[in-house]
Amino acid sequence: MKRQSVRLARPAKSPNGLLRACADDGALEVEIEPDPLTGTRQWFHFRAQAPDGTPIRMVDAGRTSFPRGWETANVWARAPGTPWYALQPEYEDGILTFPHGGAEAMTVYALFPTYPINRLAGIAERTRACPDGDVVAADSALRRAPRLSLGDPDPAARQIWIVCTQHGGEQPSLWFADGFIAGLLSMRARATSGKRFHVVPLANPTGMFAGHLRTTDTGQDPNRHWSDGEAQSCPEVATLLDAMTATGVDFLLDVHTDFEMDHVYLDVLDEWMGTPDDLVSARERFESGLAARSPDVAFSSRFPWQSPPTPELLAAMCAPSVERRFGAATVTLEMPVGRYRNAAGVEGDWTPEHARALGRAAATALVNDL
Ligand SMILES: [Zn+2]
Repeated sequence: MKRQSVRLARPAKSPNGLLRACADDGALEVEIEPDPLTGTRQWFHFRAQAPDGTPIRMVDAGRTSFPRGWETANVWARAPGTPWYALQPEYEDGILTFPHGGAEAMTVYALFPTYPINRLAGIAERTRACPDGDVVAADSALRRAPRLSLGDPDPAARQIWIVCTQHGGEQPSLWFADGFIAGLLSMRARATSGKRFHVVPLANPTGMFAGHLRTTDTGQDPNRHWSDGEAQSCPEVATLLDAMTATGVDFLLDVHTDFEMDHVYLDVLDEWMGTPDDLVSARERFESGLAARSPDVAFSSRFPWQSPPTPELLAAMCAPSVERRFGAATVTLEMPVGRYRNAAGVEGDWTPEHARALGRAAATALVNDL
């Protein structure tokens, strides 16, 4: 009988996962690779070949950055030429286990369906073709992220910034950006809305392509580099701040993925920032518009801070830093990644389509309600 080969392979983009051993029972024992310098890790994405039904064990799941997240995590799988499907893994004693499917071909496994990055080129092309569209291309030498602008070209228009995917493993944030831009493109009212939108779909390209959870390829966490002193050591942030300084910022939406919480929520820091009432009102207009337009958003769903954030953290994170620097209303929006509950408490799987729909709803709320 022909003995079938057992192997793990790295996808070209966003790879993470190393085959440490084949156990006595034939299981593949896989470890998640840590980000450089910080050691943060959760994202995985690899291809496997093994006899059908072979257990795949993520043996260090309990030692990752958000171990509680495995209790509601999905493992997404895709055989060549077929769509992604969700598996519900078992999580016990710090080990995440799921069965390999697809004996002959390499099956891809990931914590969330990866965004096909060539879609961004198509979206940029559609943006460029609009009379009010403008595209700033990525520049890898400068470490500048790509940026798409649409909306009212009047210099007096309010400047609305949407920053997505500061953290490399946050694939749902890229899907959100895709939906957001599709939403903007479909709304002609944007061009006379008194608002101009600047969307950064992928703020940390090197980190995402390297398969990191949070950091850039060199181990910098962008969302810890927004203070005056720190931005220069993370050019991804410094180039964004330069562009924001050129346009000004009236409203910022910073879009992330939470690997532990099982619902969409906002991270709001008013209490410690002493945020002025007019900025709170602007955020609440957006938030109530979003809750009215998305079944996944409950008004005033918040990150439960257990102790106050330090002044250093407030200075280093994007939203509080942009609020202080530009006097802008700011929102940090977090999406789940696995099984989740919507605003009515109904359970389901968070999918690329959910993230896109939320992005589209956010675009509609910003154009119409802000
Ligand atoms: Zn994040």
